[in-house]
Amino acid sequence: MRHLHLLLGALALPALGLAAQAPLAATQAAPAAAFALAPLPYAADALEPVIDAATMTTHHGKHHQAYVDNLNKAVAADPALKGMGLEQLVARAGTLPSAVRNNAGGHWNHTFFWQSMAPAGQGGAMTPALEQAITAQFGSVETFKASFKEAGTGRFGSGWVWLIVDEGGKLAITSTPNQDNPLMDVAETRGTPILGNDVWEHAYYLKHQNRRGDYLDGWWQVVNWDTVSERYAAATGQG
Ligand code: MN
Repeated sequence: MRHLHLLLGALALPALGLAAQAPLAATQAAPAAAFALAPLPYAADALEPVIDAATMTTHHGKHHQAYVDNLNKAVAADPALKGMGLEQLVARAGTLPSAVRNNAGGHWNHTFFWQSMAPAGQGGAMTPALEQAITAQFGSVETFKASFKEAGTGRFGSGWVWLIVDEGGKLAITSTPNQDNPLMDVAETRGTPILGNDVWEHAYYLKHQNRRGDYLDGWWQVVNWDTVSERYAAATGQG
């Protein structure tokens, strides 16, 4: 009986495959937009009180959604960009129209940002490898955090502050304007981001108004160190 069941299962697979093709073919006439907004990896209020639910809802549902929508519009208007992935667009951002550069950056940066955070107490801890690298590069974890804050508060206007693995495999703190990031060909300092914080006013203004430094201080409570450590391992070939 078990044999027969397996045989029937094997026969059913091609039949299912055929059945699945019908609705697929029907949707091909109107392809889905190339880029889509993923849901937040936690509830909008999960980072309270560090980041309030109203900020999260607007930031993700309005700001990030707008980057996705505008990226789809900009890419659709330029046949040369058809089928290009987000990483490809980001890597050649300096050669692309500003609407593509800004919105591809906005989509990449925010996707990375949501994944960089976790509810307080659920973000794990740095691996020993990452902690040793931070200590070797900055002197201590506290000095690293102070330097990261300094880079974030020092960014004039809107932008991002990053912890990257540079091309020599070393950790570095860097900051980019607008929606640029360290993967872009235009970045002053290039490298692989393993942590990034959004220092646009829309990221903190509802709760902290003009006090960007307070936002940067509190933010460490919701950093997802498990994810940052995995990124560090991958960027240094240990992952
Ligand atoms: Mn933002």
